Amino acid sequence: MGLKRQKIAKKTISFYKYNFSFRQPFQILIDGTFCQMALKNKIQIKEQMPKYLMGEVQLCTTNCALKELETLGKELYGARIILQKFQSRRCAHLKDPVPASECLLSMLGETNPHNYFVATQDHTVTAGVKKIPGVPLLYIILNTIVLDKPCQTSLDHVKAVSLGEMVSVAQQQSIRSLKEDKGIAQKDGERRGKKRKRKQSNPNPLSCLKKKKKGGPTPPKNTEQGEKKKRVRNKKQKTEGGDNLSAPVVTNA
Ligand SMILES: [Zn+2]
Repeated sequence: MGLKRQKIAKKTISFYKYNFSFRQPFQILIDGTFCQMALKNKIQIKEQMPKYLMGEVQLCTTNCALKELETLGKELYGARIILQKFQSRRCAHLKDPVPASECLLSMLGETNPHNYFVATQDHTVTAGVKKIPGVPLLYIILNTIVLDKPCQTSLDHVKAVSLGEMVSVAQQQSIRSLKEDKGIAQKDGERRGKKRKRKQSNPNPLSCLKKKKKGGPTPPKNTEQGEKKKRVRNKKQKTEGGDNLSAPVVTNA
């Protein structure tokens, strides 16, 4: 079972690597609910996570998630101790903390540009994550960490990209970085358009010629006939020339 679980995880990780440009160290965004469950099941997150994901990981959380655990009191003290060892990523709520679920989802935005994995037992977060393409979801079930299979939103996104209906996240990012060159890019596009228009007027006769060549066995015969005709003409010309040459012969005779 352990091997099978690992195999499935490997396949899922490849999906995110290939389709959403995930790279090591994997960024694992963790909340208090996940820490609490890990504690209950005696799972050492720091040890288990890199083993399970077969790579380097960066365990992180947010200030809001920590604050929430603080306010929830003694029951979650153990989880808080675990969570506060992780790197705290800057969120948009430094002055006014929001619920951890809201904060975590805000870290993902619409396209998860920082390639976060999300480790949570919170159904609000899980439901939110499944609406965003390219967010690997980790949770604990039956005493083990599980990487969820890609959700339908991710699958649909990948399908749309492959069909050319959508630009991939990676491409979107590179497009954003090229924003300054956009004006030039548009001019290039116009130039290309003009060239294409010219090509459209010119290639027509060329394509017609090609069609004749490709036209099958009959057109080549025509060209052969043409050549024969030319040869005949040449022969005539030669005979005419021969006449010229023969003329002196005649005079000689
Ligand atoms: Zn926050």
